[in-house]
Amino acid sequence: MILVLFGKPGAGKGTQAPLLAESLGVPTLATGDVLRAAVRGGTKLGLEAKACMERGELVPDSVILGIVAEELKQPQYAKGVILDGAVRTVPQAEGLANMLKGLGRKVDAVLAFDIDNDEIVQRLSDRTVCEKCQTPYRGRKVGDVCEKCGGALVRRKDDDPDAIRTRLTAYEQQTAPVLDWYKTHGDTVVVVDAVGSVEDVKRRALGALGK
Ligand SMILES: [Zn+2]
Repeated sequence: MILVLFGKPGAGKGTQAPLLAESLGVPTLATGDVLRAAVRGGTKLGLEAKACMERGELVPDSVILGIVAEELKQPQYAKGVILDGAVRTVPQAEGLANMLKGLGRKVDAVLAFDIDNDEIVQRLSDRTVCEKCQTPYRGRKVGDVCEKCGGALVRRKDDDPDAIRTRLTAYEQQTAPVLDWYKTHGDTVVVVDAVGSVEDVKRRALGALGK
């Protein structure tokens, strides 16, 4: 099963990915990790990506997809894969579809986590992290003391309400149209309510996938 996780930043994709992987018995593949591994490994595409990064440019989709394609040939993905963060724009969705076709495979389902913007802002702005040991906290104030090491709690730059709004706007403009692209291309799109406990959302997701 090739499953694409989809949803706004802060919708909980990163939390659900490993849980779904365990339940479905297929590994996750985080594009960023695979890209970094290829750069470290010095593969042909990895060196191309490295050159882009050193010039301060974005790594082109074609290079990233090439690296992901190489990775998907590994035996651990024979049963399938959960892709998290691989598809953020319509050209990336098209590129992924073509790349999978080249491997004789296709996306089996797109799992879209549905959540209101206000809920996300609330959720992320409730999150603080220890500046020393990086332990995450919920429901604590900036400046509170970390229970583990006594460090001060800070808000990650990404979790600042203004930063979140900016990311949500980018999502609406670039990423939301991807869902329509999948629908019009006849792919299975499964929408799951992402509000609630981690366990509830996981149960809903598996139910929606018929598992
Ligand atoms: Zn700490």
